[in-house]
Amino acid sequence: MKCPFCLHVESKVQDTRPTEEGTSIRRRRACLACGKRFTTYEKLEGVPLVVVKKNGQREVFDSDKLTKGIIKSCEKRPVELAKVEQLVQDIEKELYNTMDREVSTRLIGELVMERLQKLDAVAYVRFASVYREFKDIDSFLTELQSLLDKDVDRRQKAHRC
Ligand SMILES: [Zn+2]
Repeated sequence: MKCPFCLHVESKVQDTRPTEEGTSIRRRRACLACGKRFTTYEKLEGVPLVVVKKNGQREVFDSDKLTKGIIKSCEKRPVELAKVEQLVQDIEKELYNTMDREVSTRLIGELVMERLQKLDAVAYVRFASVYREFKDIDSFLTELQSLLDKDVDRRQKAHRC
């Protein structure tokens, strides 16, 4: 990367971070010749995020697919589409921020559940039931129970304060 001041070709990277949208990388550099500082941006667009499935198969991350899955979980729930879209955007950003080009479906599932739980409890349980491929009603109820327990915990904590 050429220094914009003296055109020297060598610079030292001082700081690297993704931009707000998570689609590019911002680097602060210092020229090795004149010492002046400048910033460069590297686009991450076109670098697909690869999702590794449980069986080891890989496919390109598809945010539309994820959005549809979450919308399905939110059926007949008072969840605005904009909130779902925001959630997917947040997750995509977080995945890019991991700087790994390969992410597991497990990680995506965890990220979705973490956020969906805050958004809508019913949608969360629905998503979790599909995601974890519940084989029987017992495991489904266990999940539901742990959710209710958490609610009780929260209420007790709130009460103590
Ligand atoms: Zn320079």
